Amino acid sequence: MLEFVIIGSGQAGLSMAYHLKQHNKKFLVVDGGAEIGASWLNRWDSLKLFTPTEYNNLPGLKFDTPKGYYPNKFEVANYFKSYVDHYEIPLQFNTLITSVVKSEKGFFTLTHSEGEIQTKNIIVATGPFHTPYTPPCHTKLSSEITQMHSNFYKSLHQLQEGDALVVGGGDSGYQILDEISKNKSITVYFSGLINVKSIPQQFLWKTIWWWFTIIGFLSFTKYSWIGKKISSIPQPVIGTDVKEILARKNVVVVGRTKDAMGMDIFFEKQKITTIKNIVWATGYRPNFHWIEGLELDENNYPKNHRGVSNIEGVSFIGLPLMYTRGSATLGGVSKDAAHLASIICN
Ligand SMILES: Cc1cc2nc3c(=O)[nH]c(=O)nc-3n(C[C@H](O)[C@H](O)[C@H](O)COP(=O)(O)OP(=O)(O)OC[C@H]3O[C@@H](n4cnc5c(N)ncnc54)[C@H](O)[C@@H]3O)c2cc1C
Repeated sequence: MLEFVIIGSGQAGLSMAYHLKQHNKKFLVVDGGAEIGASWLNRWDSLKLFTPTEYNNLPGLKFDTPKGYYPNKFEVANYFKSYVDHYEIPLQFNTLITSVVKSEKGFFTLTHSEGEIQTKNIIVATGPFHTPYTPPCHTKLSSEITQMHSNFYKSLHQLQEGDALVVGGGDSGYQILDEISKNKSITVYFSGLINVKSIPQQFLWKTIWWWFTIIGFLSFTKYSWIGKKISSIPQPVIGTDVKEILARKNVVVVGRTKDAMGMDIFFEKQKITTIKNIVWATGYRPNFHWIEGLELDENNYPKNHRGVSNIEGVSFIGLPLMYTRGSATLGGVSKDAAHLASIICN
């Protein structure tokens, strides 16, 4: 029987694999995807990281692009591939775990479409983004409208001719709005917060991440007074000039999306009937219901302390704000993984 199974081979799973190796533990990493870096490769084609090379290192092996450069999604996937090869990480793809059950004897049975895996411990590294959420009114829209969640948006080629609507004012919403509205022949309606804070990637000749590190923004823990204060502040949009995008002649701000019926889409103050394409950048809902006996918090994330859950032998890595703002970033997850490994390996 295996000692550890890590579920998920993104940055959190790979960092955990590295630290288990440091403790000479035997483990297997399983992933529902068909290739390394699948979660990144599934994102839109023009995606560039908002963190430059030097802030993207997993433990032990440097990200192999120049300092100050913002890598694209393919470079992240290639880096992960080199990482797996370099550390000879045992990895099994096409293995989507659909249930985890603990036996009376204390070991876990993990079920996937081809069978079962048994292990003494599991580390869940399935990422912060699970089920794409789209507001219920999307089902009332005419089939003449091309609509997709940002999770499935790859490029402008997926859109048909005509007006577009982008819903959602987070990083994804603004980046997709930016990309679509660069095509001046498309009128792009935007439904989302417009008073979001946007921060430039560079400030006084230094990357914003250098400043974040100096101020300690990424390392205040969620249990500290200042960490609690920071976590209540909405995350700013980084590296996208929100004001410039919203000022473009072909961008029309329409306030909240209220309802829809056929070709009619109802916003706070108006109805628009010409929209042919919609990208819903409306976020995700977590899904951990496949782990029997796991206690969840009010937001449906696992109750945990630095990754240790209510079930002995089940731990988590890479959850948003698991310990600090850095917990769910490429360069930040290793600290949490090192700490978790020191607890579960001893
Ligand atoms: C658009 C976007 C841009 C981002 N840009 C940056 C950036 O510039 N810099 C930065 O540091 N961070 C960035 N992030 C944040 C973060 O780094 C990523 O979200 C990252 O992908 C999280 O890594 P992870 O390993 O925790 O999870 P994921 O990358 O989501 O990996 C989880 C893995 O688990 C697998 N999996 C899931 N469920 C199961 C299951 N039940 N069984 C088996 N396998 C399963 C998936 O196939 C996947 O491979 C960005 C996030 C987004 C959405």
